[in-house]
Amino acid sequence: MRSAAVRLDNGKDALFAQIGSFLAAQGLDPSPAHYSFAHAALTDPAIGSAVARLTDDGVRLSRGDIEQLGGSVVPRRTQRTVATPPDDQTMRLVAETQAQVDGFADLMRSIRQETSGFGRDLQESAAAIGRQPQIAGIDEIARITGAMVTRIRDAEVRLARATAETDTLRAKLGEAQAQARRDPLTGLANRLSFEEAFAAPVDATAPRCLAIADVDHFKRFNDEHGHGVGDRVLSAIGRGLEQACTGQLVARYGGEEFAVLMGGVPLTDATTMLNDAREALAARQFRDRATGAALRRITLSAGVVSVRPGETLGAALARADELLYAAKADGRDRVIAG
Ligand code: GH3
Ligand code: MG
Ligand code: MG
Repeated sequence: MRSAAVRLDNGKDALFAQIGSFLAAQGLDPSPAHYSFAHAALTDPAIGSAVARLTDDGVRLSRGDIEQLGGSVVPRRTQRTVATPPDDQTMRLVAETQAQVDGFADLMRSIRQETSGFGRDLQESAAAIGRQPQIAGIDEIARITGAMVTRIRDAEVRLARATAETDTLRAKLGEAQAQARRDPLTGLANRLSFEEAFAAPVDATAPRCLAIADVDHFKRFNDEHGHGVGDRVLSAIGRGLEQACTGQLVARYGGEEFAVLMGGVPLTDATTMLNDAREALAARQFRDRATGAALRRITLSAGVVSVRPGETLGAALARADELLYAAKADGRDRVIAG
């Protein structure tokens, strides 16, 4: 986007194409607000050169950059549905396999029990037969029974091995299910987990709140201190949110966005929890591990809503997102409830 200067002489079609390329390069959806900003960036020389300066080394404009240049960013989440996460089918398969393995493990256990009972009975009968030398053909019967006892013992060993393997598989499937619901960086619940928790049946009479928190100017933080330090701080922010929102579900919902689902909590309390997390974060002084040097102060903004009866996650998130956006526009480092 270095050549954001005016090129109206190429005609309307060319401008239209440039607007398209601009939106694609900046990762902006083709919404009216974005279209209008792109139009300004391409037709107003002052905005055009500011954009060229900000994107000089190939970086995208941040939401803050766009706002400073008079544009606005429509939160992505309000435009997409939250419905089926992409790996939902895989998760269903894992869950089905787990159910099948569980059933097989139970079957295995009962067969093992019956087999060992049968083996014990047969061995006792074989011993009793061996004590009856007067019956004709008893030697043959004793030989066949003995061979059968041996075969049953073998079967028992094989069944024991299969049961152990089934148990291992079961544990691994359980682990995979848990892993698929964790965010590896922060260890928090991930989006899939959050969506499942939101969809789980709840007491409709109890209040429920949902918050979405976003780290302020995190792009700037990363640019200044590096992605690795940014990652470490993200984890710390996640832990801080968990501490302030004890007993509630805190999830990493996206890159530097966290979602909190608060069951049985009225909006005033939910807002207090979020504000506690915000204040604790703002008061923290992160330091460079190697040098001990103070890092740029970091804050977060959040939108928190009371979930309406029967409201979908997408609708509740869109409302929280609007408040988050308002918190950003009001100067960041704040929580807005609604
Ligand atoms: P705003 O206050 O408007 O939210 O500004 P911002 O810079 O935080 O917002 P923007 O959406 O422009 O940038 C988000 C940044 O978050 C950019 C991206 O590099 C960073 N980020 C997202 N995920 C991760 C991650 O997993 N690790 C690190 N270190 N940074 C991340
Ligand atoms: Mg963000
Ligand atoms: Mg941010």
